[in-house]
Parts: sequence; structure tokens; C-alpha cells
Amino acid sequence: MDCLFCKIVAGQIPASIVKSTNLITAFNDITPQAPTHILIIPNQHFANMAEVAQSNLELAGEIFKTAGEIASELGLDSYRTNVNTGAGAGQSVFHAHLHLLGGRSFAWPPG
Ligand code: AMP
Ligand code: ZN
Repeated sequence: MDCLFCKIVAGQIPASIVKSTNLITAFNDITPQAPTHILIIPNQHFANMAEVAQSNLELAGEIFKTAGEIASELGLDSYRTNVNTGAGAGQSVFHAHLHLLGGRSFAWPPG
């Protein structure tokens, strides 16, 4: 399958890997929107996070758990996690991923 994030998991294209286990890979976003901007993805291909949750709730939980662990390791006491589902919501890579953003303040609701 021609999937950018599958290729990162397979080591076929380089990424700045933050954490990797048999279930998930976390790496720095190539176009960071905050001082910390990490993507956490399942190693197995799913089109989006809803599909991960429907197919494997434990894996969906593992992704959120990893976000908390990385935030804690980086000393982030506040951070934002974000999931874009579908092109209309801004999803541009159709391999499930959770954005972990930190190191600046975030306005809510977004403008
Ligand atoms: P989304 O728009 O939610 O699908 O998020 C996809 C994210 O992947 C964007 O924030 C991109 O900057 C990021 N991205 C695209 N290509 C790469 C890459 N080769 N390495 C790291 N991050 C990437
Ligand atoms: Zn993939």
C-alpha cells in the first residue's frame, strides 16, 4: 500500500522518531504547529482514528496513553491532542494519527 506513514513505520522513509513499540510509533511532525508537535500512529494501517477504535479499542487507548506518557516525559503540564477525521476536517494523511501539541498556549474555540 502506498501510505506515507506505513513507510515511516517500516523505516522506508526517515522520520524523527520519539517512541516506538510493537503497537505504535511516535514521531515529530514535519511541519510543526507548536514547539512540541508529535504524531502518534498505530503501526498497523487504519484510515483514521475512528476505524482504530471500532476495530481495536485497546489500540486506540494505547495511542492516547502514549500521548500522556510523552507529554509527561517532556514536562508538558498542558497540551492539546487533536484528531482530524476526513478531508473536510483537515485530514491530509489517511493513516490514523493523533496530534500531540504543546509548548505554547492554545485559544479555544479556534478562530
Ligand atoms: P492531518 O492533516 O491531520 O492528516 O495531519 C497530517 C500531518 O502529517 C501534518 O501535520 C503534516 O505536517 C504531517 N506530515 C506529513 N508528512 C510528514 C512526514 N514525512 N513526516 C512527519 N510528518 C509529516
Ligand atoms: Zn498506512
